[in-house]
Amino acid sequence: NLSDKLDKAFHILKGHGKITEVNVAETLKEVRRALLDADVNFKIAKDFTNTVKEKALGQDVLTTLQPGQLLVKLVKDELTALMGGDVAGINLSGNPTVILMSGLQGSGKTTFSGKLANYLLTKKNKKPLLVACDIYRPAAIQQLYVVGDSIGVEVYSEPENKNPVEIAQNAIKHAKAKGFDVVIVDTAGRLAVDTEMMNEISRVHKAIQPQETLFVVDAMTGQDAVNTAKAFNDILNFDGVILTKLDGDTRGGAALSIKTVVNKPIKFVGTGEKMEAIDVFYPIRMAERILGMGDVVSLVERAQEQFDEEEARKIQKKIAKNEFGFDDFLSQIQQVKKMGNMKDLVGMIPGASKAMKDVEIEDDAFKHIEAIIHSMTPAERSKPSLIDVKRKARISKGSGTKIEQVNQLMKQFEQMSKMMKMMQGPGGKNLMKMMGG
Ligand code: GDP
Ligand code: MG
Repeated sequence: NLSDKLDKAFHILKGHGKITEVNVAETLKEVRRALLDADVNFKIAKDFTNTVKEKALGQDVLTTLQPGQLLVKLVKDELTALMGGDVAGINLSGNPTVILMSGLQGSGKTTFSGKLANYLLTKKNKKPLLVACDIYRPAAIQQLYVVGDSIGVEVYSEPENKNPVEIAQNAIKHAKAKGFDVVIVDTAGRLAVDTEMMNEISRVHKAIQPQETLFVVDAMTGQDAVNTAKAFNDILNFDGVILTKLDGDTRGGAALSIKTVVNKPIKFVGTGEKMEAIDVFYPIRMAERILGMGDVVSLVERAQEQFDEEEARKIQKKIAKNEFGFDDFLSQIQQVKKMGNMKDLVGMIPGASKAMKDVEIEDDAFKHIEAIIHSMTPAERSKPSLIDVKRKARISKGSGTKIEQVNQLMKQFEQMSKMMKMMQGPGGKNLMKMMGG
């Protein structure tokens, strides 16, 4: 992973008393390799390391006692600058403010529309309206209703109307009449850039003149993300980028490349499927994350914000009464997923690493786990001891997983229940407190 690579790169500098042309070159070669591995565009990585090199050698660093640290700082500052320097706000000056979502299918537009509405409602005291302009898939409208319902935000749609321009315009009229101050227009995407999609979004864009046109992109798509961003920017000249699926240890390379190629700020990141999994994009934190300096501040903030206190108390009671079941397990997993990298989080909590050492929680595993739990009956979920060999076979079939995976989950569940009991003891007070309990 990128952080490890950069660690190694900086390690080269250890033991050297001064930054010299030679050891800077060596280190930055490693930095460049690390950036390339993180899917940063070749030319960008090269320009980046050249800039850092010039600065490092240009400064009076030959006498510094800790050249390694200075170089780390230079790399971090340069990365931060490359990603936009300051936090880019969102323009809410319209009356109502109109926000248009663009991006490929599956990039996370609908999910992010909901997250943004929820953010504006709960953090900015706004009254947002969600607008369903994906006219191709009836399921897409339905999806936006599910999202809207979950956060208590009204959804505007015209299921019979096949003209997204009209729908968007009517929605804005509706918003004006009903006192909504932000209108978030969710649009249709395609699997790849195509002319029809571009024409459509461009017509909507011209007709409604949004204050904010946001380009939503899946951070996991790496190099492709840059090309897509360029195509959309050529047509829409958008105002900002939303980087989704930046959960766990998704490479941050896309953030660097996109910012450089289209020169538009990244405004928010999506870090999970839940409505709360949205973060303002802080260039400096992203730089630190990429450099593996530990994004402690935002981890703590996220942990505090997202561990629902009520939920934590309920779970605590259940653990105490030995009533902790698979539904609770599922909801715990979802909480954990919202926070991103569990290992990072655990590492920050004194004593917790020890309690967690036998529990392997991996991102990929979540998919199977969720499928398995969804295949259990309510009775089995609340009373796992019911699950015998026959039931296991049924569950494994129903969830499309192997019987070993079901067995493994049962074991993990037991360990987790045990661990949670332990956390209620003296050593675990801090963790529970941190998690909102
Ligand atoms: P759209 O086609 O652009 O509207 O994309 P959707 O909003 O329907 O999202 C596509 C898939 O990505 C869904 O399964 C979402 O739950 C998932 N998704 C969206 N944002 C995130 C994110 O930040 N993290 C993760 N892990 N999944 C996400
Ligand atoms: Mg959608």
